[in-house]
Amino acid sequence: MLEILNLSKSYRKTLAVDDVSFTVPDGQVGILMGPNGAGKSTIIKSIAGLLRYDGAISIQGIPSRELAAKRIFGYVPEIPALFDALTVREHIEYIRRAYQSDVTDEEVETILRRFELYDKQDKLGNELSKGMMQKVSICCALSIKPRVILLDEPMVGLDPQAIKELKEVVLELRGQGVTVLLSTHMLEMVNELWDVVFIMDQGHIVATYTRKEAGDQDLDAIFFGTTDRERAEGRPADRGPAETAERGHEG
Ligand code: ADP
Ligand code: MG
Repeated sequence: MLEILNLSKSYRKTLAVDDVSFTVPDGQVGILMGPNGAGKSTIIKSIAGLLRYDGAISIQGIPSRELAAKRIFGYVPEIPALFDALTVREHIEYIRRAYQSDVTDEEVETILRRFELYDKQDKLGNELSKGMMQKVSICCALSIKPRVILLDEPMVGLDPQAIKELKEVVLELRGQGVTVLLSTHMLEMVNELWDVVFIMDQGHIVATYTRKEAGDQDLDAIFFGTTDRERAEGRPADRGPAETAERGHEG
């Protein structure tokens, strides 16, 4: 389970995330959905411990800054960061040791094969295409056998086969009780995956829907329903009048 309570983050003058709270239960896929600049990556980087922020984040009930929490989550960043001089295999081994993961050689082989990296194990980080780096990054996150996994725009740059594989992996993880948080601005990529969707705009979650509440509506209908309503009302959908008034003072 992933719990975010009153998370705020400013970069100098930009308030990137403004008092956001949400929870993703065990075995569910949460989607952070929203346009570029909405604050998705800032939330994910805060959870991953890469930023200073205000608020509280816990992973399986453990404060996210504690080592015990860091041990159990995997993180696939928006922009893959690999070591130039380590091979694909060495990246996996590095992560495996750093996390003292009990993943077996057979499991590593299966993961690499699924992402068509098994025969590219000896390639160096700086010999890989962007898509291959992204796949290595996904394989590293899977190799720690996470209880919680954070995926920041993971489909960007992947080929259709890898996208299909990643979707299957997400559903398998969910089946194993893993908590998944995935950000995307591409609605169609996650239609089959989500349990709860958090629609973001300008640092706020403006609406939250569970699959149950959505009935047979797809994400397109939900997303545009919310954003159209916001536009019609001239404010984000679930913000109260007090906050709207405050915003008025800024202009
Ligand atoms: P998203 O992932 O939804 O596209 P981000 O979390 O990357 O959004 O960005 C949210 C806001 O914070 C944007 O206005 C962005 O310009 C700003 N921002 C993100 N990272 C930085 C940074 N390192 N320094 C300054 N501003 C940033
Ligand atoms: Mg982003």
